[in-house]
Parts: sequence; C-alpha cells; structure tokens
Amino acid sequence: MIRVRFAPSPTGYLHVGGARTALFNWLHARRHGGKFVLRIEDTDLERSSADMVDGILAGLRWLGLDWDEGPQVGGPFGPYFQSARADRYRAMAERLVATGHAYYCYCTPEEIKAKRESAEREGAAWKYDRTCFYLSPAEVEARERQDRSRAIRVRSHERAITFDDLVHGPITFDGSHIEDFVILRSDGHPTYHLSVVADDVDMQITHVVRGDDHISNTPKQVMLYEALGHGLPKFAHVPLILGADKKRLSKRHGATSVMAYAEHGYLPEATVNFLALLGWSPGSGDREVYTRDELIATFDLSGISGGDAVFNTEKLDWFNQQHLWQLSSDELLMRVQPFFERAAVWDPAFLTTRRAWFVSVLELLKLRVKRLTEFVDLGRFFFQESLEYDAAAVASRLRVDGMPGHLVAIDQAFAALPQFDVAATEAALRHVAEERGVKAATLIHAVRVALTGRTASPGLFEVAVLLGRDRAHARLTAARALAG
Ligand code: GLU
Repeated sequence: MIRVRFAPSPTGYLHVGGARTALFNWLHARRHGGKFVLRIEDTDLERSSADMVDGILAGLRWLGLDWDEGPQVGGPFGPYFQSARADRYRAMAERLVATGHAYYCYCTPEEIKAKRESAEREGAAWKYDRTCFYLSPAEVEARERQDRSRAIRVRSHERAITFDDLVHGPITFDGSHIEDFVILRSDGHPTYHLSVVADDVDMQITHVVRGDDHISNTPKQVMLYEALGHGLPKFAHVPLILGADKKRLSKRHGATSVMAYAEHGYLPEATVNFLALLGWSPGSGDREVYTRDELIATFDLSGISGGDAVFNTEKLDWFNQQHLWQLSSDELLMRVQPFFERAAVWDPAFLTTRRAWFVSVLELLKLRVKRLTEFVDLGRFFFQESLEYDAAAVASRLRVDGMPGHLVAIDQAFAALPQFDVAATEAALRHVAEERGVKAATLIHAVRVALTGRTASPGLFEVAVLLGRDRAHARLTAARALAG
C-alpha cells in the first residue's frame, strides 16, 4: 500500500511550491490507490498559527486535493499535528539513547559557541567535538544527579551515505562532514530531523516526495532510519520552481498564496493542470491540457524532471482559458457567480428568468476572457444600466462629423426591424452607412462606443442583440447627445 504525505509547516500560506508538492503526492496516491496523508508540522509554535493551518487546508480544498488522513478527517495514525506528538518524539529519542545510537549532551550553548568561535578564529571548520559522547558512565550519572539540562545527539558515522532518489538517481554524502546532530533539544522539543523521521516511520510512509531544499537534510534522516533499524522510504526530491528571471519563485513574482489565484479568477482544475506540468511531464507527445482524472491516470513520479521548473503566468492564463472553454454553461454560471456578487452586479434572476440571457452573455464573453474576474470587467456594460464612457473613445469615435445624424438613422433603422437579430442589425447598419455615404467601419466604431462605452468589445452585433432593442435605443440616444 502506497502511503505518501504532505507535511507543511504552518508558518506561511500554501504557496505555489507547496501546492505542487502536495499535488505530486496526491497524484501518486490516487494513481496507485494509496493514501494521501496531511501532517501539520507545527513544532515551531512561535512561528505557527491556526490561521495558517486554516489557510493551508482551504488552499488544498480549493485545489481539490482531498486527504485520506489528517486534520479534520482523522485516521489510524493520528494525531496529525506534530505539536500533539511530543511524547512520541521523546520516547524515540530515549530509545536511540538506550540502543547506543544517541547520547545525552550537557554542553551549553555558550560552551559550544566559544568552541566554534575559537575554531573559526583558527580558520578551521567546526563540528561538535563529541565531548559528551566520551563521558564515562560515572560522569553522566553525576550530571544527571545535578539535574543538568541536556539535549540528545545522534552519533553520526563517518562513512558515505547514499540514498536513491527517484528524481535525481543515487545521491551520496560524505558522512564525515556531518556532526553528531541534536534530535531532542534541552527543552524537550524535537528537531525537524527527529519529528519528520519519527512520523514517517509511525505513519508508515512509503514515499517521501518533497522539495529539493530537503536533499541536504536527507543524509541525517537516513542515519536516523538506520539507527531505528527501519528501512528507508523511497525519496523523490522535486526541483524548485523559479520565476521567469530564473530566481527562486517568491512574492516578487506575484506568487503568493494559492488562494490568491482563486481570487484572481483562476479555475482549480486549470491551476492543478498547470502545477502538474511544472516539472513533471507525461512523456508522450506535446499534449498539455489534462483533466484531473486524466492526470491521475497518467501520473508517474519518474516523469518528474531533475531541472528547475519555470513559473510563467501567461502559461497559467492559457491553461485557464483552455479549461474555461471546457466548462458547460451551467458550470460556468456557477463559477462566475461569486465574482459577480463581489462586483455587486449579480442578479438572482440570472438563475431563473434571466438565466438563458445570462448564459448567452457568458458564452459571448468567454471567447475573450482568461480569468473569471474578466467576465465582469469585459461585460460590465451588460450588467449595469448606466454606462461609463471612456473619454478617449468618445472623443475619437463619437465626436465625428455628422455622427449625431448617423446615430439617429441607425436607431430608426433598428426600430424598424421586424427581427432584432445579428444578421438584421448588421444589414441595417451597413445600409445606413451606404445611404449616408460613410464607411461602415466608422459607424461600427461609433455604435460600439455608444453601446459599451469602450473601443473594444465582443462582436458588436452580438452585443447589440443581447443588450436588446430597448437598451440599444436608450444608449444610442445618450450617445447622440455626447456626439454633438
Ligand atoms: N515541514 C517541512 C516543510 O514545510 C517538510 C518536511 C518534509 O517534507 O520532510 O518544509
């Protein structure tokens, strides 16, 4: 049974890099019918917060990455918050002392600092000198009797440490560079190495899929697995995500929390598709658009590339558009509703009496938008009675010689149409142009500003028909006043 985990530290929101790590874990679990465990690594209580946990859960939920075990759903290996597992870490550290793999260290931070500084003054690299490893049993006992505070250090070994990484292949570290490292601090708190290995062992994790930044931590963790007499999980270290400038992705690149993408009108299925292909490739052809189920069916850890992935917002926009186009009208309607509500242009009748009209408007706008927020932006003139005219558009398109008269003629021609449809309105406008000796394009530009307030819009005649004859009349009348 494959068991993977996503183990965020709740010291920040779920950002793009974390979301992609979670996604790769989730896809691996779903592909193989395994379990996706969510574990909150909140041992650093000062930097962790419940708000951050909520934000991470919200981000995962929005992406649709449901967890089989973890906060709010529980599971057989809980608790899933590291802050609630302190006893286990202590017990494990003591067990390593009892088996001779670890020892008590009574050195104070001041003592260690002094030794380090003196080594550095002599230009030597310093690692812990094993003072406490060499204490005799009597010396240890004496310190225990004095109730001296103590940490627990693991005895590291000098030989080479190799592990197989599913992304990078075999990775070898020289153990002689690794000092005897602390696994339990003198205040009883575990260090990251202990808590992560203890939990991965206890939770029977089979695959550790995480960011590249943890490669350097892995040899210490391998030592811990060995000291515990436990086999290694499979490791897959996923390369970093870089911005277009090849620097590590950060807020500067606009990459903030995953929920910011939700707010900006990205679809979760598009975001998932985009994130999946950020460093992973299905390895066949150049197909890029995948549904969630198709990703699950195709995903394999071996397709993760060892090179850094570059985050590109235009690409995300492209994916979003592709997925927008795949939504059914009803689905699209549901997805845009919150954005219309937020912009205060939502009408409950869009779900009932005006539903057919609203869906037609969305279908028209859909061809030109990339994000859900843009439906309101691009189509505002459909949803608001009063138009905001773009001053430059009025100046260049409406304040044209003879325009008031042309607009009156178009308005009259529209009024006379037996059928107010796309073909008829277009024919009427072209007829007026011919009759009055102006270019059709000049009238089209002017009517566009009249009906929408702007120089750019979806197809003018589609717009006119969806606005309806009455509203078109009212706006042509208002534009006539602006034109002359
Ligand atoms: N809590 C660690 C982090 O947020 C992840 C630990 C791991 O995946 O091993 O970076």
